[in-house]
Amino acid sequence: MKIITTPDPRLRTPSKKVNHITDETREIVDAMVKSSLDWEKKHPYELSAAMAAPQLGINKRVIIIRDDMENKDNVSFTALIDPEVIKTEGKTNLDYEGCLSVPKIYGMVPRPDKARIKAKLLDGNEVRIKATGQLARTLLHEIDHLEGVLFIDHIKDKKDAWFELNEKGDIVPIDYDTCVKNNKELFPDED
Ligand SMILES: [Zn+2]
Repeated sequence: MKIITTPDPRLRTPSKKVNHITDETREIVDAMVKSSLDWEKKHPYELSAAMAAPQLGINKRVIIIRDDMENKDNVSFTALIDPEVIKTEGKTNLDYEGCLSVPKIYGMVPRPDKARIKAKLLDGNEVRIKATGQLARTLLHEIDHLEGVLFIDHIKDKKDAWFELNEKGDIVPIDYDTCVKNNKELFPDED
């Protein structure tokens, strides 16, 4: 299945709860894992850390998270069904975020350091996750997708928060005006 990119309206549509895990849920998860790994094969400098179902155009509350975000050789993911943010706390961290559905652009996004998440695993068992740092950031990014929110929404009023990946695989700052000019669909409010 194809990963959809902005401005596809399905990325801006709030997703529906799954409630009952069925074969269809498992098929969605399989398609998400496959699409993530296919994407990674075409992007040698980037790791596919996570994905939300709306990124395949499926507005259901399903996300997958890479089990080891440091190691491309570990291709296993954990699926979280109907994930909910119970609480966020701690200091606000700034770090880079990218998104399979926002091609080429990276942003310096503020996120809380800690997040408590409740979700169901694919076997129906409930899990509670106390996440910090990068895992908290990734989970909050993916759960945002289920509300139709993208990382760029958190930084759209910041001129110096925009970056792109150059040919060598380095993240380099980009001029905000160029970013707007080259990606008009991301900035409908700017001239
Ligand atoms: Zn994303």
